[in-house]
Amino acid sequence: MEILTRPWRRADFPAVRKILWETWSAAYSAFIPLEDLKAYLESTYRIDALSEIYDNPHVRGSIAEADGEAVGYARTQFHRDEKRLYLASLYILPGFQGTGIGGRLLRAAEDEALANRLKELWVGVMAQNVHAGRWYEKRGFHFVLEEPFRMARTTVPHRIGYKVVVQSVQGDSLERRLFAAFSGEDEPLPLADMAASLLESQRGQWPALAEGYAVLNGARTREIQVGVASVRVQYNPGRAKSSTAPVDPESIRNRRCFLCPDHLPPEQEGILYRDDYLFLCNPAPIFPVHYTISHRRHLPQSLSDSLETFLQLAEDLGPRLVVLYNGPRCGASAPDHLHFQAVPARLLPVEAAVSASRGRTILLPRGAAEIFGTDGLWCGAIVIEGGRKADVAAAVRLVMSGLGGPADSPEEPMLNLIASYWGGRWRLILFPRLKHRPDAYFREGAGRLLVSPGAVDMGGLLITPREEDFLAMDSARIHDIFREVAFDERAVETVLASLPG
Ligand SMILES: [Zn+2]
Repeated sequence: MEILTRPWRRADFPAVRKILWETWSAAYSAFIPLEDLKAYLESTYRIDALSEIYDNPHVRGSIAEADGEAVGYARTQFHRDEKRLYLASLYILPGFQGTGIGGRLLRAAEDEALANRLKELWVGVMAQNVHAGRWYEKRGFHFVLEEPFRMARTTVPHRIGYKVVVQSVQGDSLERRLFAAFSGEDEPLPLADMAASLLESQRGQWPALAEGYAVLNGARTREIQVGVASVRVQYNPGRAKSSTAPVDPESIRNRRCFLCPDHLPPEQEGILYRDDYLFLCNPAPIFPVHYTISHRRHLPQSLSDSLETFLQLAEDLGPRLVVLYNGPRCGASAPDHLHFQAVPARLLPVEAAVSASRGRTILLPRGAAEIFGTDGLWCGAIVIEGGRKADVAAAVRLVMSGLGGPADSPEEPMLNLIASYWGGRWRLILFPRLKHRPDAYFREGAGRLLVSPGAVDMGGLLITPREEDFLAMDSARIHDIFREVAFDERAVETVLASLPG
């Protein structure tokens, strides 16, 4: 779906009437009789009345088109006596709500306020239209008074509110990047659908992202048998930057953090996720759908501080997407900025492989979570399953305490984590790690293998950004890489045996 917004034209009047009528009947008919809505449309928005509005120099109208069809209408009006800019109309056809079109029209109105040196944008919303009220509140509006509003013979309370639109001194403020917001309450669409709309829109607007997906389209894969399991290798030159990112503290301190909202590319937009995170499209995708969910603030990558959000995100996205976590020294390309990734479910070989080895539950701690090891994978892994978030989180913390950290630091144990949510239950696959990058990564010349394993690689999809590594990869090399960077099954068993339960 290609979305564009443009100033309205006289030829749009019939489309505007259609949008008003359809959105009013859907949103207002519960508290205003249809005949009054019809009468109001015919008095206030007749073609000649629209023409008068159109000619008013203090009015600006915008149309949003989806694939050439008008699906949204917004209108601003400057009230000279109050010196206020009002968003007088913002209507999106019901079938196109939740796709980010409203956010885009709202942003255009905010831009207009800024361009006119106004610090506020004002809006009026019917009090009974709770859904719309929440939509504005999520985007920073505060409602400050209530006034009667008359539609033909019906009078309803109208809430009047405003938001401050002062531009942030650091450039783009977060609000101006919002494609949509997800708070988990009264959402018109599941998060996975909102994210799909974001991706579709961003692919049309952000050339670097379109290029990233074009590179992925040309990516080649190989299946390689490692013991009884099968590992996939993907040649993906788009990942070179991420695989070779310097992650030493000095380099991290000196680079501009690419996940901080103020440093994102100008074309990048995101979904505000539960107030604290920004749901973004990953410009170097490994999968046909690949997101990064990063904290709004520059906080260090840490699982213990973000575990509940990580589990909530898996639930909000499930069952179509899985959520990944890379420890700060285990493949996270921004160890200094808290973030997760989300990718399609069932594309990582480990997901099917773990299902197949379900038989070996090693430990059943009190509560509703199970912890068990795996059998026959390319490396050791710990599986945690449960139907209550608190139990699952407690099981993860138990495993983390069993793994310990480096003796001389308060850092979390090295690990990667893959979480899925299906049928009311979480399933986490945790890979305890020994090392960030294999020795072959640092070798000079022919012996070098540019592989920097993160959760995706641990999950059985090894990413090679260089073709020579893709071609050189074989069973023995893969075996060596995993033996170096990950626990084997025996080491996992020892950890599990050490846990209280
Ligand atoms: Zn940052």
